[in-house]
Amino acid sequence: MTEETTAAPIILVVEDEPKLGQLLVDYLEAADYRTRWLTRVDGVIDSLQTQHADLVLLDLMLPGRDGLIVCRDLRRFSDVPVIMITAKTEEIDRLLGLEIGADDYICKPYSPREVVARVKAILRRSGSRPPGRPPRSTLMKAAFRPATAACRWT
Ligand code: CA
Repeated sequence: MTEETTAAPIILVVEDEPKLGQLLVDYLEAADYRTRWLTRVDGVIDSLQTQHADLVLLDLMLPGRDGLIVCRDLRRFSDVPVIMITAKTEEIDRLLGLEIGADDYICKPYSPREVVARVKAILRRSGSRPPGRPPRSTLMKAAFRPATAACRWT
């Protein structure tokens, strides 16, 4: 049991595949994050409106609604950092081409350690700012750096 003296950040994991979702949850919790795990994209907006999350890991390969639409919709009421997880090059094109408000993206196949490292980096950037509206445009410019685009396509 950990004491509630320092509240660990809560990561909302949105992934329908049990193995992948469990892997992310395990690695995040090993890194001392708290997690919530949704297997359907439908619940994301409701979850964010009713429960606090410090970051969203949003897989784009989900049944139900388009993850990009969900990201755009949640930006209407939330500035929570969002990391997209995608396996398709055309989705990355759309991520880059549309101002949907994602803070970073990760390509499949990924290593869970890389995901945790990205989460840490984003929370470090977003964590120091005071509550209220963050400088999201700055965050996006920083997030979409060229190095990120070096995905391992197989
Ligand atoms: Ca999936």
